[in-house]
Amino acid sequence: MQLAARIQQVPPSVTLAIAAKAKEMKAAGVDVCSFSAGEPDFDTPDYIKAAAKRALDRGKTRYGPAAGEPQLREAIANKLRQENQLDYHSDNVIVTNGGKHSLYNLMMALIEPGDEAIVPSPYWLSYPEMVKLAGGTPVFVETSREWGYKMTPQQLKQAITPQTKLFILNSPANPTGAVYSPGEIRALAEVVVESDIWVVSDEIYEKIRYDGVEHLSIGAIAPVVLARTITSNGFAKSFSMTGWRVGYAAGPVELINAMTKLQSHSTSNICTFAQFGAIAALEEPSTCVEEMLTAFAVRRRVMLEAVQSIAGLRCPVPQGAFYVFIDIGETGLKSVEFCDRLLEATRWRRFRG
Ligand SMILES: *Cc1c(COP(=O)(O)O)cnc(C)c1O
Repeated sequence: MQLAARIQQVPPSVTLAIAAKAKEMKAAGVDVCSFSAGEPDFDTPDYIKAAAKRALDRGKTRYGPAAGEPQLREAIANKLRQENQLDYHSDNVIVTNGGKHSLYNLMMALIEPGDEAIVPSPYWLSYPEMVKLAGGTPVFVETSREWGYKMTPQQLKQAITPQTKLFILNSPANPTGAVYSPGEIRALAEVVVESDIWVVSDEIYEKIRYDGVEHLSIGAIAPVVLARTITSNGFAKSFSMTGWRVGYAAGPVELINAMTKLQSHSTSNICTFAQFGAIAALEEPSTCVEEMLTAFAVRRRVMLEAVQSIAGLRCPVPQGAFYVFIDIGETGLKSVEFCDRLLEATRWRRFRG
């Protein structure tokens, strides 16, 4: 079969391969805990489920506007103004099939063949693949453990070429747990403005932070920054709604309209009654986020203690998200090899009793 070149260049997900191996071992009766894929294990809060059920009973089962339910777009714009100090209105907002889809729509609407997108590394695996699917070239900037896996403004400046179209910022970050401080965000924004490039701010983990660190949305810094910012977010991580597939992007109206046009010819609207669950998530008071955070904070401590007790492994204390990014350099192993050995060695020890 002759598949399209665009899909042949996309590698399969390594995370999913490790997850599949762990799942296979579990099915074979081996006692394994999988720490591969990033998904909260909590159920969606009841008040959100109840709102979606009510919407179903009220007949919210039909096609809706491609950009999303007007009430949800309004609720998202209100949230972004109040919580993030981002001057957006409902026509700046598109509701998408998860945060991942908002980023995909963006790449398709913004990136042209020849365009470069700057991706600080380590990165979420989908960023470069989306850039490539749009015909662009991902440009990786290596960050280091010593700098907490954060890109400096100098590094950003050095990576910019006449072809640079977009800088992909993710704070709190997957997979490193790094959170850029407000000062660091401001310094990056200065480079973005003076270099006349776009920035997409993936804020999917904005609520998952520890030790009182702050989150600053880059678009909140100044109107000149907001004019070249796309803010991407969603409900999956903050409200344990991974399977609902509701996310959103906010940005200049012209760009949001372009993304809506694409969506109108591909996925149409997001599941209508799921959007009503999302409205409740934003509008009804709840302590669900705080409860989840308390659990994550305990797990982070347990995990860090475990990792730090193993000779040869090092990791910075993650300030956000729910990942621990381990430096295995001293083991001399490649990451997949390391994961394989971890699974195999543990199995071996257990079977020996
Ligand atoms: C989980 C995740 C997303 C989006 O997830 P959706 O389920 O599509 O909303 C986006 N960016 C990062 C870095 C993520 O980890």
